[in-house]
Amino acid sequence: MKASERSCEQCGDAFEFSAGEQRFYAKREFPPPKRCPGCRDAHKKARQAAPGEAAWDAEEGFPATCSACGASTLLPFEPETGRPVYCGDCFRYR
Ligand SMILES: [Zn+2]
Ligand SMILES: [Zn+2]
Repeated sequence: MKASERSCEQCGDAFEFSAGEQRFYAKREFPPPKRCPGCRDAHKKARQAAPGEAAWDAEEGFPATCSACGASTLLPFEPETGRPVYCGDCFRYR
């Protein structure tokens, strides 16, 4: 895999989606980022500032219930029936 150039949906800037990031996203089944790192950061901070919201670095989320702790969370992909899903905290410590 090699780095690919994407353009940010929010500010229109071109940014690099590196090979390492592509592997990271593919492994976690995240959709490719639509925003540049700067806009993603701002988006993440805005989300973290909102109380009770999962601190996912996801563009959109699908509401789901964590299989480990039962907390409601947002997933970056549509949860499949019969497949365990994890909230941000449980996912990190898996
Ligand atoms: Zn941007
Ligand atoms: Zn959890």
